Amino acid sequence: MDRVLDIRDLSVTYHSREKSVFAVNRASFHLDQGDALGVVGESGSGKSTLAMAVLRLLPARIARVEGKVLFLGKDWFAASEEEVNALRWKEISVVFQKSMNSFSPVHRIGDQIEDIYRVHEPKATRKEILDKASELLRLVNLNERVYRLYPHELSGGMLQRISIAVSLLHRPSLLILDEATTALDVVTQGQILAELTDMARTLKTSRIMVTHDISVVASSCNLVAVMYAGHVVERGPTSSVLKEPLHPYTKGLLSSFPSLRGEKTQLRAIPGFLPDLSKRYEGCIFAPRCPRAMDVCSRELPYETAITEDHSVVCHLYGGDVS
Ligand code: ATP
Ligand code: SF4
Repeated sequence: MDRVLDIRDLSVTYHSREKSVFAVNRASFHLDQGDALGVVGESGSGKSTLAMAVLRLLPARIARVEGKVLFLGKDWFAASEEEVNALRWKEISVVFQKSMNSFSPVHRIGDQIEDIYRVHEPKATRKEILDKASELLRLVNLNERVYRLYPHELSGGMLQRISIAVSLLHRPSLLILDEATTALDVVTQGQILAELTDMARTLKTSRIMVTHDISVVASSCNLVAVMYAGHVVERGPTSSVLKEPLHPYTKGLLSSFPSLRGEKTQLRAIPGFLPDLSKRYEGCIFAPRCPRAMDVCSRELPYETAITEDHSVVCHLYGGDVS
């Protein structure tokens, strides 16, 4: 299977005159063609920062990005701005939560789609572009009638569907969705996620879905990476991570979400707060909130342990010597 993205020891530190914020710490994972990886964690865990770093959208004046990212086999952080710009939208694309607000209110949707497409294919004719867009719009249950409309004539769900279709216009290898359906009502969100899954399968597009909502991962992703305070603490196939979570944080996160089909159980919030990310911690960053914490946990950083070939966890409970 073709490897689309290989992230090794990716770290991001925001810096200002007052302080540094260690937003992502040595994250590693990979994605093959057609994979959908859910990056899940509570607010402030570093999910969006990780996505922005992969997109190379973090300016050096605000963030230091370290580590290695291979995108389609290319050393992505060593690539020039020109090379990155040539591949952005064509091979790597993104939909944000607010993408639906980025359409200009004074231009018709069809004209805007045409302009976006021409950034990379200046010679394409209007007919070619709109034919391509129509094919994608049908996959998200819209049709070419939207071309004549202005954004205010469409609902938020319709505009977000158009944003998704636009992000796939050039058939990119990788699509990053950062809370792309969070602002929508639950029914629309469910419909769009189902359409997106079908669409990505048809186009063989790999996806990274950044979300705080475990149900988005459960319904749309074959892989999951759980983030806590800038650290990927567990990763693996969605089926095994959700069925047999290993890390105490993953267990807490899952028990704080209602089950759709299972028995009704009491939801439990994880006691405590995210740590101050401007400090360095010696041991496990989850130790102050962890119900299973041991002496070693506040002294030594846990390392990633592979429990099966593709399911791994960063926790002293699984890392051999726990004295
Ligand atoms: P949310 O779901 O709320 O967006 P998140 O998991 O995506 O959260 P990030 O937005 O990536 O988390 O933030 C990770 C950490 O980095 C947080 O502590 C945040 O306050 C900090 N942070 C984000 N942007 C900056 C910035 N420009 N300068 C300094 N710190 C930042
Ligand atoms: Fe809890 Fe220790 Fe595992 Fe951290 S390393 S999650 S504190 S048991």
